[in-house]
Amino acid sequence: MRRKKSNIGATLLVVFFLAIIGGAVYLANSPMFERNAPKIEVADSIFWNLKEPIKVKLSDDSGIRSYKAVLNDGISDFVVLEEEVATPQKEMEISVTLPRAGWNRRSASASMRIEVTDASNWNLLKGNSSVKSVNITIDSVRPTAFVLANSYSIKQGGSALVVFGAKDKNLKSVYIKTSFGKIFKAEPFYKPGYYAALIAWPVPEKRFRAWVEATDLAGNLTKAHIPLFVEKQRYRRSNITLKDRFLNGKVADLAMEFDETANISDPVERFRIINEEIRKRNEELIHKIGSKVSDKLIRRWSVKPFLPLKNAKKVASFGDHRFYYYKGKKVSESYHLGLDLASVKMADIIASNPGRVVYSGYNGIYGNMPMIDHGLGLYTLYGHCSSLNVQEGDDVSRGERIAKTGKTGLALGDHLHFGIVVQGVEVRPVEWMDAHWIKNNIVSIFHTARKMIDRRSE
Ligand SMILES: [Zn+2]
Repeated sequence: MRRKKSNIGATLLVVFFLAIIGGAVYLANSPMFERNAPKIEVADSIFWNLKEPIKVKLSDDSGIRSYKAVLNDGISDFVVLEEEVATPQKEMEISVTLPRAGWNRRSASASMRIEVTDASNWNLLKGNSSVKSVNITIDSVRPTAFVLANSYSIKQGGSALVVFGAKDKNLKSVYIKTSFGKIFKAEPFYKPGYYAALIAWPVPEKRFRAWVEATDLAGNLTKAHIPLFVEKQRYRRSNITLKDRFLNGKVADLAMEFDETANISDPVERFRIINEEIRKRNEELIHKIGSKVSDKLIRRWSVKPFLPLKNAKKVASFGDHRFYYYKGKKVSESYHLGLDLASVKMADIIASNPGRVVYSGYNGIYGNMPMIDHGLGLYTLYGHCSSLNVQEGDDVSRGERIAKTGKTGLALGDHLHFGIVVQGVEVRPVEWMDAHWIKNNIVSIFHTARKMIDRRSE
């Protein structure tokens, strides 16, 4: 009996110690005792315009207990933030702003020190600390930006050229922004500090306004209005009645090619999916490929009028807003964003301007489609081809036969769907097919801009 009792006592003792060790190990590994220093997220050196607050992200597993931000203008320290956090936060963002008084406005450089302590009980309950120092280059001067020359007007659905200058010792980005949110990239043009961009007014947008934006590394921003005369253009609205022969013929054949329509048996629904969802996917590819703009300096850029098909007649125009009806009910709608041309069957399609083939393959409703990059963000595409003579990566020269017309994709008869894209936006092909338009809106604008740049740099 005695032996048994002492055994129980010893066992209890062991269990007791194990529990203490276990508890200690548990606590040491719990967030309450974590040993990781808080993270301070801000670059090692930054540019600052003294206006916008400097944002610093702090994070820690046990939470941020306190933080402090000290700015130095090269002469003295300013404690601009110091706080004990009532409820420790795992993630927080602090905003460092200029001290109310005493800052030396003539300093070109400054520094910032961030000190953070977490809510861990490690370090005899004091927690873990981090310190980060940041070098600051002060730049409160806004970039200069000015428009040198631009096309006199822009039509709804059309294109325009803008040449502008932008300078700053810490320039970060220059581009053209529009009232509908689209940003057009600019290419360095002729001499350092000057830029050129083709811009476009998408057909469905009711209004158009564009301006140059130049931003420097410190966040200073300058806007320069582009004085374009805007011309609204009415595009045709056409009502098209869907015929059973079309729905059960071409559309049914096409439906088998796409995952989205392979299992749909309703002919009208099949058409709707092809005309809306597949079209969207195919256009997105065109927009993506047609959005690339080089960042190399261009000295000269021009194109000859595009005439992709000889002796052709127009069979459908650009910008048509098409409404499709079946048995008197509207079932779908879409914009026709190219010019349809037809001559004989399997006619030769000609590249009217040199360029690089950026796509040559099947693109859903566009069928077999080559797409050519002519530089400055201008692209041409050729839909419904029966055969393709070029491959992606080929350089084509003026007059080269690139493909033959056909009726692949969503096309009834043999024709060419000729599309022109400016930085991902489909534009009126008629402008780029017109020698006068090109002379007045492109050639002469570049000419004027070059003369002005030469004069400014004399
Ligand atoms: Zn078409």
